Amino acid sequence: MFENISNKSIKVKFLAKDFMLKNRLEKLEYSSLHDLSNKNFLIPNQTHSTNVTYSNIPGQIDNCDGVFTSNPKIVCCIKVADCMPIFFAHHSLIFYGVVHAGWKGLIEGILKETSVLIEGRGYKLNNFDILIGPSIQKCCFEISNDVVSRFPSEHIKPKPNGKFMIDLQDIAFQELKNNGFNKNKIRISNDCSYCQKDKYFSFRRNGKNAGRMIGLISFRP
Ligand SMILES: [Zn+2]
Repeated sequence: MFENISNKSIKVKFLAKDFMLKNRLEKLEYSSLHDLSNKNFLIPNQTHSTNVTYSNIPGQIDNCDGVFTSNPKIVCCIKVADCMPIFFAHHSLIFYGVVHAGWKGLIEGILKETSVLIEGRGYKLNNFDILIGPSIQKCCFEISNDVVSRFPSEHIKPKPNGKFMIDLQDIAFQELKNNGFNKNKIRISNDCSYCQKDKYFSFRRNGKNAGRMIGLISFRP
């Protein structure tokens, strides 16, 4: 799916479980990424917020869940384990970024904030390819009564066990479309981080000690 970007100068990578284990990155510190390659990382210190930041200077950004840049030396970087890594690449210009969208950030409007940031920099939303990477899918993402009222009613499906099934990728797709992105340029991975335990870490499956996977988007000269 990561080849589905029309701008061939922009590269997306998803470092899944085998890579993380092989490189002993399962207890990931971003400093270890610097050792891995001499790249300039732009890293949000994810807090399930709706804050998205633009920067042409590498480094970590507090209270932030999405980063964008137009500096071709910068690699935008997030970590996930069930949450959606959502990559954005302009179809011809050097402007790209990645957003970490768990259910909270999603329903609180991180994709709206993303569209505001992109338009605020003078780019048209219609010109972006979007990839939603491996994440927990509707087969496995269920919620209980305590939070169900926070979700849009059209996305809630009751289950026989008294819980509710939610399709986070579909919510993200609708949000992106409603905010002005081109629905024909949105690609969604079918891989479920919870089901596919050989390939992915999962917070819901492994608990708070779950490993993390890394999503990267960068420029290739
Ligand atoms: Zn699943």
